Amino acid sequence: MVKSVKELFPIIDDYAELIIVKELEELKAPVNIEQIVKNYGIQVYKESMEENQSGAIVINDNASGMIINKDDSLSRQRFTMAHELGHFISYKLQNKTGEIIEFRDGTSSLGTNLEEIFANKFAASILIPKTLLVSLIGSMEVNIEELSNIFEVSQQSLEFRIKNLL
Ligand SMILES: [Zn+2]
Repeated sequence: MVKSVKELFPIIDDYAELIIVKELEELKAPVNIEQIVKNYGIQVYKESMEENQSGAIVINDNASGMIINKDDSLSRQRFTMAHELGHFISYKLQNKTGEIIEFRDGTSSLGTNLEEIFANKFAASILIPKTLLVSLIGSMEVNIEELSNIFEVSQQSLEFRIKNLL
C-alpha cells in the first residue's frame, strides 16, 4: 500500500490510462469522465454553486458523492469531475478511512498542498491521456484549438499539459 501521496506522482500518467481502459474499455478522446466517476460508485450532482466554487467531493468509507457547479463551462465541469476523482483515487490508494470533504474553488489550481497538486495532475492525465496526445500531435497537423475540442478541455489545460510533458 501507498504510504503518502508523494509515491503516486511517478505513476499518474500510466495509472490514469489504466483506469480509462479498465472502465471504458477503450482509450479514445473525449474521455467519458462522468462514466468513470459513476463506475466508481460516486454519485454526481450538478447544482448551482457560489460563483468561486467549481465543485466538491465527500469521500466516505461506504458512499461518496460529488457536486459540480452546473453554471461552469462544460470543459471546466469535466476538469472538476476529474480533479475530484483524483482525490478519491488518492484516498483509496492510501487506504484512508473516515470522511473527507473537499471543495474546489479558484485557489485549488494554485495549490501548494500535495493532495491538490496530485488532483490537478491526475485530472490532466485522465482527460488528456499521454498516449493519445502524443499520437495526435505526431500524426496530424493540429493546433491547440482543435486539440482542445478533441479532448473537450480548455485550451489553457491543454497548453499546461503539453508544457508539463515536454
Ligand atoms: Zn482539490
